[in-house]
Amino acid sequence: MFVERLECSNCRAPHSHKEIQTVCKNCGSTLLVKYNLVEMKDKLKKEDLLGREGTLWRYFEFLPIKYRRDIITLGEGFTPILKASNLGFRSLWIKDESLNPTGTFKARGMAVAVSKARILGIKDIVLPSAGNAAAALSFYCAKAGIRAHVFMPEDSPDVTKRECIVSGADVHLVKGTIADAGKVAKAKAKEQGWFDMSTLKEPYRLEGKKTMGLEIAEYFNWELPDVVIYPTGGGTGLIGIWKAFQELKELGWISGEMPKMISVQASGCAPVVKAFKEDKESVEEWKNPKTIAAGLKVPKPFAGKLILKVLRDSNGFAISVTDEEIFNAIKDLARYEGIYACPEGAATYAGLKKLVNDGILSMDDRILLMNTGSGLKYLL
Ligand SMILES: *Cc1c(COP(=O)(O)O)cnc(C)c1O
Ligand SMILES: [Zn+2]
Repeated sequence: MFVERLECSNCRAPHSHKEIQTVCKNCGSTLLVKYNLVEMKDKLKKEDLLGREGTLWRYFEFLPIKYRRDIITLGEGFTPILKASNLGFRSLWIKDESLNPTGTFKARGMAVAVSKARILGIKDIVLPSAGNAAAALSFYCAKAGIRAHVFMPEDSPDVTKRECIVSGADVHLVKGTIADAGKVAKAKAKEQGWFDMSTLKEPYRLEGKKTMGLEIAEYFNWELPDVVIYPTGGGTGLIGIWKAFQELKELGWISGEMPKMISVQASGCAPVVKAFKEDKESVEEWKNPKTIAAGLKVPKPFAGKLILKVLRDSNGFAISVTDEEIFNAIKDLARYEGIYACPEGAATYAGLKKLVNDGILSMDDRILLMNTGSGLKYLL
């Protein structure tokens, strides 16, 4: 294993990866896993990946697990990247995360975080979730023999509630948004001593999501696209993909210009877009969030500063789209590309059309959209 330490994303305070960790003990910010990339460079070559398993565990050296026997897997990752040939773009691809266990990319984060939690002896995990993260956590915990306690807004998609119930989680429905669910979950965690797996309040879900970036690089033969468009809620995927690109650059596996990272949000809940446009350093709470895209209904992402930093460091952008534009994009992707996207994933296509209209992107750019999950989980 190449993990050296955990490091605070804000004050850089080091933390041990051998103990259970949540956020920075100094300043309360997200902890990031730091690898010894100099040593990895010596021991691992791109070619070593060829012929490995078609799951995210093919990138084992990039992950914080020491022994393969400790992996909890349901076959997550290594999802297809499909060329979108019928939408009028020259070089447009869609990474289709709907093929993951539980139908969304949330499986990636949970596979790694639950594996690590079991190694550290954690018996109970608590999570506030708009639906998909709770469903993924429930199934990985079922496999790992860990008790999952999930707190979901009452209006979470029905399928996700059903997934949690059928897989034996302790399910709590909360009035309000994921922020309200978060408050209840936090209090319960403290009272019961349960481990809090909230987005970016522990270091390992990010590592699982990071593998999307590794897969993108390998698929494009280590020549990254010009643009990656990502539907941003809590921001784990965006930050994770960018972290992967940085690690690959340090390893010398990729070079040249990095992709522009673009966040798409729903116009009924667009705190990141607002902060980006107003040149703010942190993200303020969005009042009365409203959108059909449950995964984007995050009124105040905990790692807002990190999200904004990725957008700016990558020379990226942020844009919002209406629910109506999302509906139309779901239909277009289904009818022209044969993909039943989740509303969050479809939002990236709606955003792309706007960005081209506004002259921010060109039809000739090499563009990758992230379809983060399956339309089957929403039935819109
Ligand atoms: C959670 C979720 C998102 C948002 O992901 P973040 O990494 O938290 O920004 C997007 N799409 C779907 C389907 C989700 O479940
Ligand atoms: Zn800190």
